[in-house]
Amino acid sequence: LWSQVLERLQKELSRPTFETWIKTATAERLENNCLVVCTPDPLARNWLQKYYINTIADVVHDIVGHPVEIYITVAKGDEVGQFHESQVNGKLPAQSDVKQTIAPNQQSTNELNLDYVFSKFVVGANNRMAHAASLAVAESPGREFNPLFLCGGVGLGKTHLMRAIGHYRREICPDSKVFYVSTEQFTNDLITAIRQDSMQSFRQHYRAADVLLVDDIQFLEGKEYTQEEFFHTFNTLHEAGKQVVIASDRPPNQIPSLQARLCSRFSMGLIADIQPPDLETRMAILQKKAEDKKIQLSLDVIEYIAANYTSNIRELEGALTKAIAYISYCGLPMSVASLAPLLETPNQHVAATPELILKAIADFYQVSIEDLKSNSRRREISWARQIGMYLMRQHTDLSLPRIGEEFGGKDHTTVIYSCDKITQLRDSDRTLANTLRQLSDRINMNSRSSP
Ligand code: ADP
Ligand code: MG
Repeated sequence: LWSQVLERLQKELSRPTFETWIKTATAERLENNCLVVCTPDPLARNWLQKYYINTIADVVHDIVGHPVEIYITVAKGDEVGQFHESQVNGKLPAQSDVKQTIAPNQQSTNELNLDYVFSKFVVGANNRMAHAASLAVAESPGREFNPLFLCGGVGLGKTHLMRAIGHYRREICPDSKVFYVSTEQFTNDLITAIRQDSMQSFRQHYRAADVLLVDDIQFLEGKEYTQEEFFHTFNTLHEAGKQVVIASDRPPNQIPSLQARLCSRFSMGLIADIQPPDLETRMAILQKKAEDKKIQLSLDVIEYIAANYTSNIRELEGALTKAIAYISYCGLPMSVASLAPLLETPNQHVAATPELILKAIADFYQVSIEDLKSNSRRREISWARQIGMYLMRQHTDLSLPRIGEEFGGKDHTTVIYSCDKITQLRDSDRTLANTLRQLSDRINMNSRSSP
């Protein structure tokens, strides 16, 4: 089977990709609709997991004629657990059948990820408050911000901050009981406790925490029983003045079917949100990651990568790792020219639609799309319209007259005028340049999430 898969993948993927990542992998037999693919090292594993697992699954599906779950592992010498998380992100079945005791399990989770410390976290305008609050909580838990609720999109550093709180707290106060747990883990522990009739020790365990860090709380959605139990855990800790930190990809009031009482508990302390980083912050992050890997990157390479990965730091990092691996594999110089064909530059691949751009502008400037298409000369409206024309010119291949049409039938000379004006202003006005970048990021983000 695997040789068939390889043959197909060789045709579907570019040669360097195939040679670097796929060829070195092997697979054991198909069992229970599950195929385990072994890679030679963690880097390759992460790589396949991140970028090629779906392609592999599709090819296998095609060959065997039914869907198969793919698990990617490292052949041997794997530091067990270190990359455990990235697999859980995939579709590992719930492990509730595995007999486990709660404490050792927690312990191992707690020791992981020494990369996630404050000194490796780059602070920018997008995460300043979340960072400051996290530091404060690590230094004096149970005081000001209790609970601390970190919220922000995928890959923006929530888990990093939580782990950092944990590490730092234990550094300051080695006896402190700091538990990091994902909501999934909490749920699994709860299920295990119910099955093994050990609720008592489950409760004792969680309620003994000095600092409880609960990640991805949005997964409480629809889990009534877990919510119930978590509510009591939360209350016990909170009443005892213990610190609770929660992370979620959205604010409490946007988690569907979250009990109102939990929602209000979560909103009691501080809700600190993390926004997508701006270009400077993205560049600073790349710079730091490259330094950590002891790799020298020129500014234009950094800017190139940063400009093309806007909404998710995990992807940004992935692009860097990929660039480094590829370039050393091919023996190319580290330059924009050698990178350009390699990084699938997501921003350039998506065609933003005019509707999407109009909507982004309307939302941002708090005007209606009708206004943008109207002939109104009110200052705010014509300003928003000019920005819109400029961005439509940047983000689409539409001709000037077509852009004019999108704005309610304006003449193409109006479009030219607007584009020139904004371009000139942009070059002398940093605030405007920033605004444009933010708008661009939003447009890119939205066009990437729409099919
Ligand atoms: P989330 O939990 O919000 O989905 P993570 O905390 O897992 O995101 O972050 C994704 C990756 O991006 C991690 O490798 C993390 O180290 C990195 N990262 C995120 N924010 C920053 C930052 N401000 N500085 C440095 N690295 C960051
Ligand atoms: Mg996370």
